[in-house]
Amino acid sequence: MTGIQLNESPVEETKFKGRRLWVKRDDKIHPFFNGNKARKFKSYLEMDLSAYRRIVSYGGHQSNAMYSLAALAKLKGLVFDYYVKPLPSFLESQPAGNLKYALEMGMNMIEVKNYHEFIEQLLRNNRSDEYQLIVRQGGAEPFAEIGLKELAEEINSFANRQGIKNLAVFIPSGTGTSSLYVSKHLHHTVYTTPNVGSKGYLYQQFSQLETDSSFYPEVIESEKKYVYGKLYPEYFRIWKSVSDETGIEFELLYDPKTFIVLEAFMNQFEGEVLYVHSGGTIGNETMLNRYIRHFKNSGEFISLQL
Ligand SMILES: *Cc1c(COP(=O)(O)O)cnc(C)c1O
Repeated sequence: MTGIQLNESPVEETKFKGRRLWVKRDDKIHPFFNGNKARKFKSYLEMDLSAYRRIVSYGGHQSNAMYSLAALAKLKGLVFDYYVKPLPSFLESQPAGNLKYALEMGMNMIEVKNYHEFIEQLLRNNRSDEYQLIVRQGGAEPFAEIGLKELAEEINSFANRQGIKNLAVFIPSGTGTSSLYVSKHLHHTVYTTPNVGSKGYLYQQFSQLETDSSFYPEVIESEKKYVYGKLYPEYFRIWKSVSDETGIEFELLYDPKTFIVLEAFMNQFEGEVLYVHSGGTIGNETMLNRYIRHFKNSGEFISLQL
């Protein structure tokens, strides 16, 4: 028994730069199991995992996937071991954001010095007799297709109900797992923006999960190059303006670049557009603190109206 029910997420009609924008509110699926990580891990939630003792994963110390896996483990009554590189000392003494909430849900965080070698070995030596379910970084797993297919089907029926023949669906990409699997099952076109690596990295990720390239989404790059996890005044500005105009809180890591690309796209596209809100707003706490610290020091504080 999982004890939780994931409901169909609503689609809201909003405005972006004065134009109609539909927003698929996957951030509303469940209070602490939401966004695209809930879609990705839904099959685990519904599976009988009682043969396992623990869930094991690894990645960044502020990762949304980490937080969702901590929630999954708690809901399933399993131990959750999460491997990270050694933490910066300020976080060690005062965990915040995703890390704080994941720890509160009982996550065992294990810092490893030789992180990359350690993870390679972990993946190579994975043995089922150890009763551990290993989940790849960011949930880039074939299992993710089940929950993301449901997202695609919800969007298909929304477009049908509205009589929209040609809906442009925007989904931000990290590993590309979400945009790929939605694209595979959607009767409309998925557009995505690479956030973590280049366009080439994203296609490589797609090809690891799906060999038929006719299922791949359209990848659109921004004109300017951005480094993942870095802070940019224009990121903060577009995040604030979108949040003000739509009345919806978006997140600060993946959404800003995707909205920059979406704005340019809408200048030359007449049709209906839907944006998938992929959750992650719990990470805004630490991102906002970083923006405040960063721009206070750089003198841009006032122009950002933080
Ligand atoms: C994980 C995440 C993404 C990226 O999803 P991928 O499937 O890895 O491409 C985008 N937005 C948010 C809020 C996320 O948490």
